[in-house]
Amino acid sequence: MCGIIGYIGKKEASPILISGLRRLEYRGYDSAGVSVWNGRDLVNVKRTGRISVLSDAIDEKRPVGSLGIAHTRWATHGAPSEENAHPHSDCSGKVAVVHNGIIENFVSLKKSLLSEGHKFISETDTEVIAHMIEKYMKVEDFESAVVSTLKLLEGAYGLVAISADEPDKIIVAKKGSPLVIGIGDGEYFVASDTSAILDHTKNVIYLDDGEVGVVESGGYRVFNLHDNSVADKMIEEVSANMDAIEKGGFDTFMLKEIFEQPESIVNAMRGHITEGGSVVKFGGLEGHEKRLSEINRVIIVACGTSFHAGLVARWMMEELVKIPVEVEYASEFRYRNPIVDENCFVIAISQSGETADTLAALKLAKERGAFTYGVCNVVGSSIARAVDAGAYLHAGPEISVASTKAFTSQITVLALLSVYFAQQFGKINKNEAHKILSHLEQIPNKVKEYLENVKDVEEIAKEFYNATNILYLGRGANFPVALEGALKMKELSYIHAEGCPAAEMKHGPIALIDKEMPVIFIATKDSTYDKIVSNIQEVKARGGRVIAIATVGDNYLETLVEHVIYVPETIEIFSPLLNVIPMQLLAYYITTMKGHDVDKPRNLAKSVTVE
Ligand code: GLU
Repeated sequence: MCGIIGYIGKKEASPILISGLRRLEYRGYDSAGVSVWNGRDLVNVKRTGRISVLSDAIDEKRPVGSLGIAHTRWATHGAPSEENAHPHSDCSGKVAVVHNGIIENFVSLKKSLLSEGHKFISETDTEVIAHMIEKYMKVEDFESAVVSTLKLLEGAYGLVAISADEPDKIIVAKKGSPLVIGIGDGEYFVASDTSAILDHTKNVIYLDDGEVGVVESGGYRVFNLHDNSVADKMIEEVSANMDAIEKGGFDTFMLKEIFEQPESIVNAMRGHITEGGSVVKFGGLEGHEKRLSEINRVIIVACGTSFHAGLVARWMMEELVKIPVEVEYASEFRYRNPIVDENCFVIAISQSGETADTLAALKLAKERGAFTYGVCNVVGSSIARAVDAGAYLHAGPEISVASTKAFTSQITVLALLSVYFAQQFGKINKNEAHKILSHLEQIPNKVKEYLENVKDVEEIAKEFYNATNILYLGRGANFPVALEGALKMKELSYIHAEGCPAAEMKHGPIALIDKEMPVIFIATKDSTYDKIVSNIQEVKARGGRVIAIATVGDNYLETLVEHVIYVPETIEIFSPLLNVIPMQLLAYYITTMKGHDVDKPRNLAKSVTVE
């Protein structure tokens, strides 16, 4: 689920491992550990909590050596604790293993290992791997023992193992969880994520599912677990630079990322708008025109914030393409018997491109013949590699666990995709496309304009940061913004928050309204404006405290509600791109006023690679 880094070379491993773990902190984790070969033994140091705690413990133990592996854990089996932290060892302490993912058949494996006399010290699924390697090493070398072990594992893993009996190599394997090998000068790195090793090298190879890599200080080789065939891996250059993952003058990554949105929205559009702003192109879809002409339904699968971007996309596509669009929680879709055929265009949305439920939903859709399309931020991620075609967000690394810039980039790409389809299906001509696209192209400046004057949100946050519940209401294109506003608030501030279609309020949530209850209305000038004003009246009549997001120049709402946050005007289909920004900021300010860690909210992980 979380992070892995390993090193083999001539330098001291510990500082490289610690700095790699720090680079991975953004993913969220509950404990961390390292295992370093000191020339005699594998020295394991593990701690719960922050990397700085682990780093202090390493300073005390001083494991010196040039081979080591390290891990940040996000617990799936067994509580966060020192015993459950990785690396895990066998009975003899000669094997060390770090693992991201879940071993689904670990109960039966553990049972037979226990009956053979193996002693376990953790509750994790991972520890069985170390004991299985130990068992097979009684009759095989390290590499064969790892291969024999992998063949019996069910579930998902990004796995890295070292052995005191062969302390000249790192063995890695991948199935369903990302893993890369970084190539340095006479040294190699292994990691779950390129950001862990970018300080040292930009040259990486991405392992594919079912591949095993043996990395030695003199070289590496990758082969297929099942047929042993050598995998001819391409070395790719990673372009992200380290400056992009620093805080750039902001107090937190989240604030930095909110303020990056004028730029990230532009980056999401880059290369797609051609012919003087009147035609949309998607490189990945070129050559598929015949197949696309047979599409009669769009299904969007996603989780969390990406799901909300999908709901916005439904609105845009129905409006522009006039095609039926369903938006599905990936976790539900994968366990139903959904009606999918070759005439479906299935879009998987995931910032990390590793979201396990979304990946599984996508695979199901693919099996049923759908054309699959990925909208991801992380280049080379599992979803990006599994789809028929796709578009990257190019939003840069999103370090804050709560997504902000990826959300607006997702909407931007999906807006362009809507225009693309509308053109392909002959629903709009070039003039109409030009008009729509010029509104989209103005959004980055409007976001910038809004961000230059955000004092009002901070003032409102001061008044409401002690609230225990907040209700978010919106309609039409902005109902998903209400959901996203509530999600941001609860995941960061731990205040209970609910998003709901404004008209649905009277079927239940209205019972919650009293003079303690802040109610946030997204009430910008659009086709449902008059309706939402009536909903505001209903809340006011029951004593609720209303904060309205309104269009600049709308002076009426001020006469009706306590607080108004003004956003620039745009057309209805693109209004979510502007309306969500004050939602992000309100959650941000309230969270910092409450003293919580805004970049790493409790219990959450950045990339949810377990189902
Ligand atoms: N399933 C393993 C555990 O609970 C790995 C979790 C992770 O990916 O961090 O320890």
